Amino acid sequence: MTVYNFSAGPAVLPKPVMEQIQKELPSLQGSGMSILEISHRTKRFEDILDTTKQDLKELLQIPDNYEVLFCQGGGTGQFAAVPLNLANHHRKIALLDSGHWASGAADEANRLGYTVDIVGNTKANKYQSLPYPDQKLSGDQYDYLYATLNNTIEGTTYHRDILPEHNDITLVGDMSSNFMAERYNVNDFGLIFAGAQKNLAPAGLTIVIVRKDLIHPAAHTPKMLNYEPYVKKDSMFNTPPVFPIYVAGLVTKWLKDLGGVDEMEKINRKKAAVLYDYLDESKMFKNHVAKAERSLTNITFSTGSDDLDAQFVEFATQNGLMSVKGHRSVGGLRASLYNAMPIEGAKALVDCLHQFEQTH
Ligand SMILES: *Cc1c(COP(=O)(O)O)cnc(C)c1O
Repeated sequence: MTVYNFSAGPAVLPKPVMEQIQKELPSLQGSGMSILEISHRTKRFEDILDTTKQDLKELLQIPDNYEVLFCQGGGTGQFAAVPLNLANHHRKIALLDSGHWASGAADEANRLGYTVDIVGNTKANKYQSLPYPDQKLSGDQYDYLYATLNNTIEGTTYHRDILPEHNDITLVGDMSSNFMAERYNVNDFGLIFAGAQKNLAPAGLTIVIVRKDLIHPAAHTPKMLNYEPYVKKDSMFNTPPVFPIYVAGLVTKWLKDLGGVDEMEKINRKKAAVLYDYLDESKMFKNHVAKAERSLTNITFSTGSDDLDAQFVEFATQNGLMSVKGHRSVGGLRASLYNAMPIEGAKALVDCLHQFEQTH
């Protein structure tokens, strides 16, 4: 039985990448040592880090006035790092509360003593649509406007053509769950971050892309959260997450070979449409997100009955379709269709949904 892994994170990685890891795990590039064993100060690893960074710059078309940092601590670490580095002029942040992870970012900035104004929220409709600012925002008032670009749990996305207005304010985007899944213009943002374990690599690596002139860390910022040492020492002031960076290098190479982010987006649109088209026709399973705001990578749906949803999870699991249970905070069902998920996986899921619908 072919198994498809729809987990929201850590998540599926490309098959050719898994095979290459397996092949060279005992001996990296004929060195007789594993990537799990070598020092980060070796030329071999420095080359891996440099190449990965260059490939990210190329794939995302990152302009020269931005830094690419390899951090640890996940998306949650950045909930603290972003205000500590970027919010020290006004100590005031405008934030769009679009769901679970946006609320988490607001709480963390608040806890660190920054003022967080929620300038839009869609709590009232259970975050099934995206909030937009209820007022004109300015950089004279706020250090930045914070948005969670892809809402992993709720299944909504600020795609590049529906970003909140940001003419007079710096935009910060949490791209953890749609990193390199669709095209964004980096120039639209002062900072983008992404935990790797959704769409790039195993857990342990967080990518930060930040405009150089915005970095002004608060005095007591812990070194691990302070972007300055990362910039000065090329993300190597202490031991970086060697293995996740190595895998990120393989995944970026895979993505380049496949045709880059634009090609990936085309494939992702096709793949997501397989599932959305079915859901729009189904009498049993429904997705409630407006078409323009639908996520390509995390698709939420439900029968409306907890019991029936649970029965479907069981049925899917028996058929090799893993982790389709919705996040514990919202329930229902969710399929994550990240870059590495082949379109056959989406088709297998639709076959399974169809079969279930006919027999229940
Ligand atoms: C998963 C996720 C996070 C949290 O990431 P951790 O690496 O577990 O800290 C933050 N934001 C978004 C959008 C996510 O999907």
